[in-house]
Amino acid sequence: MKASETERLNNNKKKAADKKKQDKKEPELEEVRKLALEVIERLKKEYPEASCTLEYEKAWQLLVSVRLAAQCTDARVDQITPLLYAKFPTVKALAEADPDDIEEIVKPCGLGHSKARDISRCMRVLHLEYNDQVPETFDEILALPGVGRKSANLIMGDVFGKPAIVTDTHCIRLTNLIGLVDGIKEPAKVEKALWKIVPPEEGNDLCHRFVLHGRAVCAARHPRCEICCLRDICRHGKETLGGKLKLK
Ligand code: SF4
Repeated sequence: MKASETERLNNNKKKAADKKKQDKKEPELEEVRKLALEVIERLKKEYPEASCTLEYEKAWQLLVSVRLAAQCTDARVDQITPLLYAKFPTVKALAEADPDDIEEIVKPCGLGHSKARDISRCMRVLHLEYNDQVPETFDEILALPGVGRKSANLIMGDVFGKPAIVTDTHCIRLTNLIGLVDGIKEPAKVEKALWKIVPPEEGNDLCHRFVLHGRAVCAARHPRCEICCLRDICRHGKETLGGKLKLK
């Protein structure tokens, strides 16, 4: 048999095996989609108001806040940003500020040196290239200095009302516990998995509700499964409670 013929047969075999695998995965994916819809409905009832806990009035301020929020609490960021905007009230003012002066104000948020420089570079780009506005496409936002996928998604969802999946620590922890994803910790991979099972228009609010639920009930150190509204459908809840506690 010619080498090219062998190659063709091997390719066909591989395609058939991939299709078999895919066919097996489809029902599983359907199950997880149903679970996602149920989680969405229950969390909507539990937390009717789903919004970002960072305070901001203008789109560029949310960019500043999300950069400051890395390894810092939202509450601390919300204490610091009014001080920052009192001294530098516009994109132009921040773009022209000495990064050391920004650092002086933002250092209580931790990582002050790198955060101040990222904010300075980001505001310079907004000032010089975008007329002091935040660009409206995901790729343009992602290309801004100091902006990662999580922040870009947050801006798309909260500022522009577009589909978004914000994979922060709460989202990653809860989706793994609930069983929406399976042992995936890397934010970009969790995001990719959730895009497949969460209706696009629900993603942004769902992620805000994961934050609220993570704070109120499903804390990292001690998830309070016994009082959780998801306890009969959550993988971890079912394992922990063994079906002993039913929802009323
Ligand atoms: S049942 Fe437990 S692990 Fe699952 S979401 Fe609720 S608190 Fe978290």
